[in-house]
Amino acid sequence: MGDSSPVHRPPLLVSACLVGLHTRLDGSARKYPSVLSLESRYCLIPVCPEQLGGSPTPRAPAELLGGAGDEVLEGMAAAVTPEGCDLSEIFVRGATEVLTVAHLTGARAAVLKARSPSCGVGTTYDGSFGHKLQAGSGVTAALLERSGIALFTEEDCVALMEHPDSRERPAEEGMP
Ligand code: SF4
Repeated sequence: MGDSSPVHRPPLLVSACLVGLHTRLDGSARKYPSVLSLESRYCLIPVCPEQLGGSPTPRAPAELLGGAGDEVLEGMAAAVTPEGCDLSEIFVRGATEVLTVAHLTGARAAVLKARSPSCGVGTTYDGSFGHKLQAGSGVTAALLERSGIALFTEEDCVALMEHPDSRERPAEEGMP
């Protein structure tokens, strides 16, 4: 088995919706070439925290109301639908499942979908469903950050190709 085998590449968690799996809200699929190109250097581990937490697909949109992912983990904010349905339990369960996958695979970095209420890194929508951003990561991203996993998005993951050791540095460093 050569060095290009997945066994010889470091594991990298990726949001499943970035690599062509049908996990998006409407059940559709989309591929992001910038993320797929990482497959030459990493063993990509696709995860969808909302599916892992128990959400169906297709499913209603959700945003984080009253705070971002850290506050949801603390029970001080909520993941809600436009109708006000509280999905926080599903979101926290999904985050915990993704952290378990990180531990099982030894992944030290993740490329997550920007601005998602689960996967967003550094910013998410604020619960108004008015396309307004707030500071703070999604629920899964916040839990992974607490565990020292370096986080990137589809918008900045080129750093993982140019500087592979960036997967070892704290999440705050290297973020735009
Ligand atoms: S952004 Fe995260 S939770 Fe949403 S579809 Fe993609 S992987 Fe699933």
